[in-house]
Amino acid sequence: MSAMELTITKQVYDQICGTIGRHPAETGGILGSGDGGKTVDHYYFDYSAHTTGGTYSPDTAVINQVITGWNAKDIEIVGVIHSHPKGHTKPSEGDFQYVKAIMKALDVRGKFFMPIVNVKNPADGTIELFPYMFEECVHCRPQPIAVAREYTRRLNDKNRKHQDKLIKPRFDRIESLYPLDVLRRKTVVCVGLGGTRAFVEELARSGVGNFVLIEGDTVAATNLATQQVFVSELGRSKAEVVCERILDINPAANVTVVPRFLDDSMTDDEFAGIVGKVLCKSPTDVLICGCTDSFHAQARSAALAMRYGTPYLAAQLYRGGMAAEIYFSYPGVTNSGCPRCAMNSRYEAYESGYKNDVTSDGTPIFAITRVNATKGQIALMLLLYREDKSCVYNDMLDKVADRNFVMIRMNPLAGEALGLNIFEDAANPEFGFFDETIWIPQTPNNEATGYPTCPLCGGTGDLPALKGKIKDTRTDWRGEVRDEIS
Ligand SMILES: [Zn+2]
Ligand SMILES: [Zn+2]
Repeated sequence: MSAMELTITKQVYDQICGTIGRHPAETGGILGSGDGGKTVDHYYFDYSAHTTGGTYSPDTAVINQVITGWNAKDIEIVGVIHSHPKGHTKPSEGDFQYVKAIMKALDVRGKFFMPIVNVKNPADGTIELFPYMFEECVHCRPQPIAVAREYTRRLNDKNRKHQDKLIKPRFDRIESLYPLDVLRRKTVVCVGLGGTRAFVEELARSGVGNFVLIEGDTVAATNLATQQVFVSELGRSKAEVVCERILDINPAANVTVVPRFLDDSMTDDEFAGIVGKVLCKSPTDVLICGCTDSFHAQARSAALAMRYGTPYLAAQLYRGGMAAEIYFSYPGVTNSGCPRCAMNSRYEAYESGYKNDVTSDGTPIFAITRVNATKGQIALMLLLYREDKSCVYNDMLDKVADRNFVMIRMNPLAGEALGLNIFEDAANPEFGFFDETIWIPQTPNNEATGYPTCPLCGGTGDLPALKGKIKDTRTDWRGEVRDEIS
């Protein structure tokens, strides 16, 4: 028998590091090949697998969907990959039975890979990979196989350092602007990846090291005109294609792809597990961004930020992209209300049955680009707050801590069309036209400020007090925590 090799593209290897490598043992996924089995160039992380009790049980329904999608594009499944606790480097008897079943079900007639991963450090996604291969004859034992050169190079620590050096100069130009070691440590969780895609990709260019991408949608042809997507991506998971772009910008980034919507099927514990230990250990190192059209998911993302005590940013484009709003908060710094205080009329509208019919119809791409730019600047304010005195973003937030609701006028007719007179108030009409950014003073909603008391924060705007008080953000974003808070 000739020596077998497992060749994995660097992109897939990086994706494995960013998914399996970022979780405790017993997570997994499937491996695909678009070149007839020579190279593993496709990978799907089995995000929804059950990983209880120290074994990895794949989510077969989802996996089958992925395989069907691959088949349509002539990508064949060539193996399964999963992690074991450190020191367990061989497929187990259970794994053997599983592969046997899968090879039979898929009618696999050649080799089938089952690499075992040992996660070395979930914080940076370093892994050790032990490749095994099963052959057509399902009775034979799995054979340890050699790894292809491209792949061993990646594993070799000395070369890895060399590679890091090659990558590092790319950030030289912003080294004096941001403390890059700080941004490398930070995690940006983005809920929704439609128009907001460039915002996330540009944060990768700015040196942010960790991303969690939550988006259940796939790239559609209609997105080409209003989102930064490409024909080559049609039909693919938006989360997955953005992950690839981030790794193409910064191969050292860690990206967790969650091709799901943030709906009630995802529990808070599950969310916390996806983001990782940093969420509870160091919540201000995590920025949660609500960038979806779904009000429920948006409100949920805000509640998650309140529950875990992370900084938060939410953006919403108005009809026709004529104007946009951005809300942001940082526990203990922005004391002028919670997300519900700031967006109460929207919460109330949805609670009384309002359905959003605003789509990206008639929205110029430039309006989306424009909002993303300001979102990015605000994200840096939140990520770099009080991290480095020499950094220009260090205390920017202090100056707008009570004006944490931003509106941008992107069409001269926005005031009239949307009934917003605030732009005229803010800009001298003699000089203003459009493209103003206004930072609107905020107050907590309570009797003293003339509003019904906010059911989420109890009218205090005290975000640190909210931390941990919310027990289940699937329901509590509606305001059922009122009694507990006051
Ligand atoms: Zn196993
Ligand atoms: Zn409030």
